[in-house]
Amino acid sequence: MSDPKNFINGAWTSSVDGGTLDVFEPATGAVIGQIVDSSQADVDAAVKAARDAFDTGAWGKTTAIERGRILQRFGDLILRDADRLAECEARDTGKPVTVARNDIIALARYFEFYGGAADKLHGETVPYLAGYTVTVIPEPHGVTGHILPWNYPAQMFGRTLAPALAVGNATVLKPAEDACATALLLAELATEAGFPAGAINVITGRGAASGAALAAHPGVDFMSFTGSPEVGQIIQKLCADHYITCTLELGGKSPQIVFADADLDAAVPVIVKAITQNSGQTCSAGSRLLVERSIYDAVVARLSEAFGKVRVGAPEADLDCGPIITAKQKTRVLGFIERAKAAGVQVLAEGQIAEGAPAEGFYVKPTLFGPTPRDSEIAREEVFGPVLVALPFDDEDDAIRLANDTDYGLVAAVWTRDGARQMRLGRKVRTGQLFVNCYGAGAGIELPFGGAGKSGHGREKGFAALHDFSKTKTTVFNHG
Ligand code: NAP
Ligand code: MG
Repeated sequence: MSDPKNFINGAWTSSVDGGTLDVFEPATGAVIGQIVDSSQADVDAAVKAARDAFDTGAWGKTTAIERGRILQRFGDLILRDADRLAECEARDTGKPVTVARNDIIALARYFEFYGGAADKLHGETVPYLAGYTVTVIPEPHGVTGHILPWNYPAQMFGRTLAPALAVGNATVLKPAEDACATALLLAELATEAGFPAGAINVITGRGAASGAALAAHPGVDFMSFTGSPEVGQIIQKLCADHYITCTLELGGKSPQIVFADADLDAAVPVIVKAITQNSGQTCSAGSRLLVERSIYDAVVARLSEAFGKVRVGAPEADLDCGPIITAKQKTRVLGFIERAKAAGVQVLAEGQIAEGAPAEGFYVKPTLFGPTPRDSEIAREEVFGPVLVALPFDDEDDAIRLANDTDYGLVAAVWTRDGARQMRLGRKVRTGQLFVNCYGAGAGIELPFGGAGKSGHGREKGFAALHDFSKTKTTVFNHG
């Protein structure tokens, strides 16, 4: 990216003001390129391109069947180019190469799934008065704006754009400034798949500038945001100012609830992976371990052993974890760890940073903390790093109370062989997804996903996303 450009109206486009930002490589801390720092004028151009594509252009005239074919072709091209896309994603985010490759496969799945779903979003008729017929038809919002985080840039591209496009919206995407390389490659690949000019526009830049300008833009009809709760509130307010709605996916402090009758052989490796995967930079990370008191010591002993074996290194070393995305995030994660230690919380185990990991890279040791007061920072706040806290509970009621004792509600897991208990917890735990004797929100493109409270609102993935990215029109025919 020596000559940084946005992708607007089907073409590489220089920024109006010429502003640029440096791109850092998480594995080494080195500057590896530049991106456009988009201004209001660039946002205006991208929204206009999407507006024209939707209102008068080829995209607005496509049928659901045609859109389905284009999306599926895009999925095929992503698989064809999986190697180069995965390499780009690994370098840009620091992910181990195998993880980056899996993310690209998931990205392709989004376009396959929503390509297949495009012609299956049907309307309905409603029984009404004698002599009347009523139809309720889902329609696209028009222009949708999408603001992405840096943790799963490729997957998020698919998660938010594929359903929006399947319904027929024209889109403007602002990836995170810390991870936009793959989105730019994908924008160009989309043209080869057959998306007409203006259906997908990608602008890069700082959230507080171009991100805010996008959410505030009068030409945008709906917003999809994934990121921090603080910025989520800003987005919602900007949307309210011009009477549009948004989906917010804002992270969590998701509990893994382990009862005394759990199959620990199955549970322990899954619990470790749920917090170390992507170095804990996962909205659905299982970051709170709640264990029935009678087996607490046995569980943390097994977990400590497993945690001690987790290895962190550069993407090409392809270990369990890569670096944290930026120096700033590394400092933030270490701050949580240091404050917990200073408060006297016991470190039960730490993973290892592999020999040969570049000294200037943003590496953090996965850390398992022991018991701490339930209202302490490490027990309640999202760290967004490889940090797990293990808390004991007394009985089922206590487990539910503790599971619900954060401001978040995104994902939860319950480990028990007792079927009735599984059902009771399913009803009472505040969460958008509940996993029973398993975990893993990242897969399951078919499965509706989203939170409550500080985790946000709206649903992505599955057919639920098609509903959020559309609105119904009711038509009443009086035919006598
Ligand atoms: P963030 O600031 O919320 O960033 C998310 C996206 O919002 C980025 O594209 C960002 O742009 C943009 N943005 C920032 N300020 C904005 C504004 N005023 N108006 C419009 N858009 C704006 O998140 P972060 O600082 O990268 O990470 C901080 C914390 O957020 C993390 O530690 C974690 O707790 C949480 N987080 C959650 C998720 C998730 O999946 N739920 C993902 C990432 C982060 P730029 O970054 O390009 O400036
Ligand atoms: Mg980067």
